[in-house]
Amino acid sequence: IEEKFDAIVIGAGMAGNAAAHTMASRGLKVLQLERGEYPGSKNVQGAILYSEMLEKIVPEFREDAPLERHLIEQRFWMMSERSHTGMHHRSDDFNEEKPNRYTIIRSQFDRWFSKQVQAQGALVICETTVTQLVSDAYGKVIGVRTDRDGDTIFADVVVLAEGVSGLLGARAGLRQTPKPDHVALAVKEMHFLPQETIEARFNLKGDEGVVIEAVGSISNGMTGMGFIYTNKECLSIGIGCLVSDFAEKGETPYGLLEAFKRHPSVAPLIQGSEVKEYAAHLIPEGGYKAIPELFGDGWVVVGDAAQLNNAIHREGSNLAMTSGRLAGEAIFQVKSRRDPMTKQNLSLYKSLLDNSFVMKDLKKYKDMPALLHTNSKNFFLTYPQLVSKAMDSFLRVDGSPKVEKENASIRAFVKQRTLRGLFGDAFRLARAWR
Ligand code: FAD
Repeated sequence: IEEKFDAIVIGAGMAGNAAAHTMASRGLKVLQLERGEYPGSKNVQGAILYSEMLEKIVPEFREDAPLERHLIEQRFWMMSERSHTGMHHRSDDFNEEKPNRYTIIRSQFDRWFSKQVQAQGALVICETTVTQLVSDAYGKVIGVRTDRDGDTIFADVVVLAEGVSGLLGARAGLRQTPKPDHVALAVKEMHFLPQETIEARFNLKGDEGVVIEAVGSISNGMTGMGFIYTNKECLSIGIGCLVSDFAEKGETPYGLLEAFKRHPSVAPLIQGSEVKEYAAHLIPEGGYKAIPELFGDGWVVVGDAAQLNNAIHREGSNLAMTSGRLAGEAIFQVKSRRDPMTKQNLSLYKSLLDNSFVMKDLKKYKDMPALLHTNSKNFFLTYPQLVSKAMDSFLRVDGSPKVEKENASIRAFVKQRTLRGLFGDAFRLARAWR
């Protein structure tokens, strides 16, 4: 490729597609490079799609995007070895004309998203891995090299949307690769079942869907969570924990997933299913404090590559789409003013991001990742087990006076954590949540 582009986007995931679409639809000359055979072939997600963030890019997406089920119910489970204690929210209000959340299958969705990008005029080339960012003598990024040939492809600005590992940015010295306690490793399987079976097991009709998210003994005291998402004809079931915890504990992700599937609360939901896909992927979970430099001379970084992921709310794709869109808008504004793509001019991207929910939410939870990680045994094992025992005792009718049961449960909590420990945990959690 001889010509020079206004922008090169590396990666055709949620963030890259959002950035490429935003710039191409405003008339910029955009080249997007994706290492996968097709967009989405390498990508893994639970996956919940958040409509609002996509609507800002493709308003009419519901007409032809490959959507699975719209979500009407969220179940949150705190699990012990043989039980779960849950909090559910199901509402008919979620059966709205334009539903707020859908389940999707990324390999299909990303392909569709990429078609929208191409329809705006961007040049999208797959099976092409960017191997290097190219800089001028002053350190300004001026283009990229790929594994296709050794030539440099030039652009005014490069958008790094390469996903969580961020190898290119790290290789160019723009950031470090994420630390093991800032990334989770998640594994996921797709379990196929007849549509009627899914609807009967989850109390659904039509395109309604349910999400189950679970913490507790399933992660064996490590910082992590499991999930089950309903698609039309399959269930996505997975679990993920911090990479540093896996290393410390000597556990394996597939070992945890097998145990999760055998749990008495889970096994009946997937019984008789046929497993057709298995995938593993990293998730950035370091939060606000792990966010690297987001822009520089001739480059911006978006999505997972920028660690923009809200692990507390299990949101990632929406932060990826929003950061991609805002980076695209910032680049368009700098270009319209005929200004150069300097660090100073591209700081507009960071200002837009700071004013959005992305940075506001991540900032709100800035202390949560460290708190959960350093107290993982209490939050992910001890408390779920204590809650399970307390609920068991509360519900079991065995002739013991209720006051004795309550006192025994309180004593069990104090014995495990001490009064000081209990108040300390509550205080730290409340402070980190604010
Ligand atoms: P990616 O989607 O990873 O895209 C990066 C792209 O760059 C890939 O296509 C890759 O092939 C390409 N690439 C990488 N290097 C190069 C290179 N050198 N040259 C060319 N191309 C390259 N988020 C939610 O919102 N909802 C969920 O339910 C949810 N569940 C999840 C469950 C799991 C198991 C996992 C792993 C993640 C989940 N997430 C979820 C997070 C979400 O998947 C990510 O936040 C989102 O995919 C980030 O998008 P991205 O475009 O930044 O990165």
